[in-house]
Amino acid sequence: MDGRTPGVITRGKLCCHCLLVETDQGLVLVDTGFGLRDVANPRTRLSGFFLTLLSPEFREEMTAIRQIQRLGFRAEDVRHIVLTHLDFDHAGGLDDFPHARVHMLQQERDYALLQKTWMDRQRFRPQQWGTRENWLAYPTVGAGEPWYGLRAVRQLEGLPPEILFVPLPGHTHGHAGVAIRKDNGWLLLTGDAYFHHREMDYERPYCTPGLRMYQVMLEKDRRARLDNQQRLRELRRRHGHEVRVFCAHDPLEYEQLSGRTMGTPVLPRRMPAPA
Ligand SMILES: [Zn+2]
Repeated sequence: MDGRTPGVITRGKLCCHCLLVETDQGLVLVDTGFGLRDVANPRTRLSGFFLTLLSPEFREEMTAIRQIQRLGFRAEDVRHIVLTHLDFDHAGGLDDFPHARVHMLQQERDYALLQKTWMDRQRFRPQQWGTRENWLAYPTVGAGEPWYGLRAVRQLEGLPPEILFVPLPGHTHGHAGVAIRKDNGWLLLTGDAYFHHREMDYERPYCTPGLRMYQVMLEKDRRARLDNQQRLRELRRRHGHEVRVFCAHDPLEYEQLSGRTMGTPVLPRRMPAPA
């Protein structure tokens, strides 16, 4: 599955990579992983199918809210949440931030709400959507400006122009990457557009058999998914020095960016010395 756990009997390990961005408009959380309620009551919140298949490691200290608190912030400091898509392992923490406005692509919201197929009902969990009145959805049809050879939806309500959606449909219909401009270039969290870092190898893309199967099982549009993977490879090759591309579940990319091993919560931020 992950390409680094030996054997086929031992379970591989993946992460749920979320980002916390400090802006003038308050904290912005990008994707939410699993939340406190998932940790406390996985069986009422998540599908038995995925609990059995993935056996997630539910640790309260690894939830976004607990790590944000370790950094010295409160839940209310998170003013905005930007979601790559509504799958259970990205939307689980929404309920821990009832004050935040939640941004997503309109197609994602509309399609998830339909609860159309059996698999849709396993992956899109209304039990995790207690914040629905705070959701803001953005159309992609007719919208979009060029961004490094891809299209981007800019001007998310109340957010600085340094944060934008890069629609990457395929895994779900309204799936999107989230780009964040930093002083020295861009970060692009591509969500589940790909799963293994070697899939981004331009010359010889490679994916582990387990993750290849998992992606096929969950894809809503195969052609779009593979096209977008190719676009991401090209982006990385041409603009890799300006845009750091990474996905939601790859442990290596997570460890390189966070500077921590997987399963280690963020270090508490050092408080300023009292005056
Ligand atoms: Zn995912």
